[in-house]
Amino acid sequence: MISLTGLIDDEKCYEVVRQFRWPNGIHCPHCQSESITKRGNHEKYHERHRYHCQSCERDFDDLTKSIFSGRHQPLRVWVVCLYLMGLNLSNQQISKELNLNKDDVQKMTHELRQAIVDKAPIVTLSGDVEFDEVYVTAGHKGHPESVKKRTAKGDGANSKGFGGGARSKRKSHRSLA
Ligand SMILES: [Zn+2]
Repeated sequence: MISLTGLIDDEKCYEVVRQFRWPNGIHCPHCQSESITKRGNHEKYHERHRYHCQSCERDFDDLTKSIFSGRHQPLRVWVVCLYLMGLNLSNQQISKELNLNKDDVQKMTHELRQAIVDKAPIVTLSGDVEFDEVYVTAGHKGHPESVKKRTAKGDGANSKGFGGGARSKRKSHRSLA
């Protein structure tokens, strides 16, 4: 059996997170300062870069204050999980693909969806893995008028996606919008 997470390396995933988190250059997640110096790599996870903020004098790394921070599973497992959610796979299917038990996967997908609703740093990353409907949901908050217009034109893209277990969740997105 080929395992999906065995085909993807953490280094690439960290690169993707960096690119999407800081497209215009690294800034401090504590104080937003751009006066940053590099501090080598994480002791345990070598692919993870560390930084020091010259403004608030605090250290941080690629994942600090993101949904991926402090996780037991490697970053690639979370990224693949997000990707599979974008394909509308059920928790059960995802648990098979990731070789994890269903309860763990349910927690992961729940937290990822929650992070997306809360507009945590993951939002931009989710766009890259074609979790399109998430982009649309985030847009509802900022641009209710344009969403209304698109809906009026019959642009079905707004309401597609979020299959399976996510369907009930979508209602709560709407009420937030
Ligand atoms: Zn700072």
